[in-house]
Amino acid sequence: MWNKPTKEQLASIPELYRTEETPLKDKPIYLHFFIGNCDWYVSEFDGKDVFWGFAILNNDFQMSEWGYFSFHDLDEIQVKGIFEIENDLFWQVRPAHQVERICRAQGWPLPEHQDILEIECPNCKKITRSGLGEEISCPECKVIILQRSISYQGGFRHGLYS
Ligand SMILES: [Zn+2]
Repeated sequence: MWNKPTKEQLASIPELYRTEETPLKDKPIYLHFFIGNCDWYVSEFDGKDVFWGFAILNNDFQMSEWGYFSFHDLDEIQVKGIFEIENDLFWQVRPAHQVERICRAQGWPLPEHQDILEIECPNCKKITRSGLGEEISCPECKVIILQRSISYQGGFRHGLYS
């Protein structure tokens, strides 16, 4: 991972079980890691390696779940030996019910501001908009564009692609 969370970010995350009394919908999400159609949302941290939060793998909302995952493991994962998991640098801490993909997975009402991507086709430079987690292909040249950056809470960002 080239953009690991800072010590300060990690220190701000509650320890394991500290948000036990907090309903799932209100769990604050402190960090978001992602690659392609996989997301890990962090709510608690043991201070060393273990995160607790919500994971969505390969857009499989049915199988997505709250649970533990290892920072070390995330750090090690590579896709095709090239793409690493990224820490979402634009993430803003907010409760789970304000995170669109968690809401989709949990069957909760979607937040008012949904995560929208604006991505430039690497081929023809045409701009395409899409919802987060949807596979995007360029309407012009039909190339599938890998999502690598997200936006939320209104504003648009240009997505990066590889
Ligand atoms: Zn194109």
